[in-house]
Amino acid sequence: MEKLVSAELLSIASDIEVSLKDAFNLRSIDLQQSIRLTQDILSRCEANNFEDLKIAAKTQLGLFYLIQGEFDIAMNYSNESLQYFHKRNNIKGIADAKYNIGSIYYRTNKYHQALLLLLDCLLLYRVTNDFYNEARTLKSMGTIYEYFNDQEKAIESYEKSIAACREIGEEALESNALNPLSAIYFKQGKEELAVETIERSVALKMKTKDVRGLAFALYGRAKILIKKGFYKKAIIDLEETVRIHLNVGDKLGLGMAYNKMGLAFMETDDKENARHYFLLAVEISSAFKVQIVLFKVYYNLYQLARKESNAIQALDYLEKCLSIKEEVINKENYNLIKSYEAVTKIENLEFEARKQQEKNEIIEGKNAELDSFFYRISHDLKGPISSLLGLNSIVKMDVVDETSLRLFSMYHSQIMRVNDIVMGLINLTEIKNTEKLKKIIDFEKLVDECFESCRYLPQFDSVIIEKKIQNFQFKSEWAIINTILQNLIENAVKYSRSQEVSFVRVNIYLEDQMVKIAVEDNGQGIAEADQQNIFNMFFRGTHRTQGSGLGLYILKRAVERLNGTIHVTSNVDIGSTFLVELPA
Ligand code: ADP
Repeated sequence: MEKLVSAELLSIASDIEVSLKDAFNLRSIDLQQSIRLTQDILSRCEANNFEDLKIAAKTQLGLFYLIQGEFDIAMNYSNESLQYFHKRNNIKGIADAKYNIGSIYYRTNKYHQALLLLLDCLLLYRVTNDFYNEARTLKSMGTIYEYFNDQEKAIESYEKSIAACREIGEEALESNALNPLSAIYFKQGKEELAVETIERSVALKMKTKDVRGLAFALYGRAKILIKKGFYKKAIIDLEETVRIHLNVGDKLGLGMAYNKMGLAFMETDDKENARHYFLLAVEISSAFKVQIVLFKVYYNLYQLARKESNAIQALDYLEKCLSIKEEVINKENYNLIKSYEAVTKIENLEFEARKQQEKNEIIEGKNAELDSFFYRISHDLKGPISSLLGLNSIVKMDVVDETSLRLFSMYHSQIMRVNDIVMGLINLTEIKNTEKLKKIIDFEKLVDECFESCRYLPQFDSVIIEKKIQNFQFKSEWAIINTILQNLIENAVKYSRSQEVSFVRVNIYLEDQMVKIAVEDNGQGIAEADQQNIFNMFFRGTHRTQGSGLGLYILKRAVERLNGTIHVTSNVDIGSTFLVELPA
C-alpha cells in the first residue's frame, strides 16, 4: 500500500514537472496562458505538498510577470524562491531565482546590481553544466555591457552565448544573441555582417516558431532597415512586432517598438503617425518605468517638435529627455566603476572555481575507486568474520580451562571490533551509493528500536531514557534516518559516566520547515580540541570504550545525503548535545 501511494505521488510529481516545462515553453506564444497554467500547477503542488515543485512554479511565475513588466509581483515571487532554495542548498533553484531578480534589475535600470547577480548565476550554471541557462545569462549580460557602452565585452558575451547555444543545438536562444550582435556589427560599420547576422536571427526564430522571440528579431531587423533608409520595409517588420507584443503582453518590447515605429514615420515625414507612436511609447514606458526607452522617445519627440518648428514643445521634450538621461547615466556611471571592480574579482573567482571543479572531478574519481575498494573488501571480509565468530562459540562449548576461556573471550571481543569496522564500511558505501525508498518515518518506533539495540552495551542499564517526539509527518529514506539515530543514541549511551543519574534525552520536533533531532547526554563530554575531529574517519577521542571511530563519520555522510546539517555542543564531564537538522 505504502509503495502504491508513493508510486502514485511520484507519477503526479513527474506529471507536474512536465506541465511546468510545457507552461515555460508556451511563454513565447501565449504568455497569459502560461501564467494561468503555472498558477494551476501551483495549486496542485499545494494540494499535494510538493514543496520544491511549488517553489519552482513560483520562480516561473516570477519570470512571466517580469516579461509582463509587473516587476513588483515578479520580485516577490523570485525573492521567496531565492530564500527557499538557499535554505535547501538547491543550486539550480538559487540560480534561476537570481536570474529573475537580475533581469528585473536590468529592466528597471539597476544595471550594476543586475550585472553582479547575473555573474553569480553564470557561475552557478557553469558549475552545474547547464548550457541553456549559461547561454541565457550571457545574453542578458551582453545587454548590460551595451548599456555601459562596453561593446567589446558585449560582443564577447554574445559570442560566448552563441557558442553555448550551438553546443546544445539551442537555436531560438542563439537567435536572441545574434540579434543585438548584428546591431553592434552595424555600429562598427560591418554592414554586410550585420545584415547576415540579423537575417539568421529572424530565420532561426521562424524555424523554431518562437513567436515572442520573433518580435525581437523583427525589431532588430527594422532597426537596421531604418538605418539603411528602407523605412517602408521597417514599418512592416515593426507592425508585426507590435502585433506580437500586444498578443504576448511584453510591455518593454512594445515601448521599444512604438518608439521605432514613430522614428520610421518621422523619417518618411508622416508627422501624424510619428507623434501617435511616440506618445504611445511614452505612455507605456512611463507606466512601466522603462527609463532607458523613455529618454530616447523624448529625444525623438524633441526632434519632431523641431521639425514642426514648435520651439516651446521642443524645449519641453528636450528637458525631459535630458533629465531622465542624466538620472540613468549618472547613476550608472558611478555604479559602473563599482561593477567593473566586482566583475574582475568575480572573473578571477570564476577561474578559481573552474580549477577547483577540475580538482573535484579528479578527487571524485579517486573517491569512487576508493568506495568500490571498500565495498569489495568489506563484503569479502563478512564471510570469514562470521566463520571466526561461529568457531569461537564452538570452542567455548568444548573448552573448560579458565585461562583459555578468558583468552577466547578476548579473542571474541577483538573479532567483534573487526566486525564493527567492516559493518561500518558496508553501511558507509551503502549510504553513498544506493537511493533508498522514501517512506513516512515513525520516529517513536525508530527511537525505541535504536535504544533496544544498545542493550548489549554495559552502560545501558544505568541510563535513563527520555523521549520527546512531536507528532508530524516526515517522509525520508528510512535506512538513512536509522543510521543517524542509531549512531547518536549509541554514542550517548556508550559515553555516559558512572554517576548517580545518567540520562539520554532524545528530542525530535519540526521548526522552520526543518526536522530537528537533538540527542543530549550528561556523559563524558568531548574536549574542545577534539570537537573538530570527531566527524573524521577513524577518529577516536578515547580508548576507554570500544569503537571503530567510524560512527560519526558515517553519520555526517548520512546527514549530508539528506542535505542537512549537524552541530555539536559539548563540555567535558558535563555532557554533549548533537543537533541534526534536516529539510522537512
Ligand atoms: P567511536 O564511538 O566508534 O569511537 P564515533 O565516530 O562514533 O566513533 O565517535 C568519535 C569520537 O567522538 C568518539 O571516540 C568519542 O571520543 C567522541 N564521541 C562521540 N559521541 C560522543 C558522546 N555522546 N559523548 C562523548 N564523546 C563522544
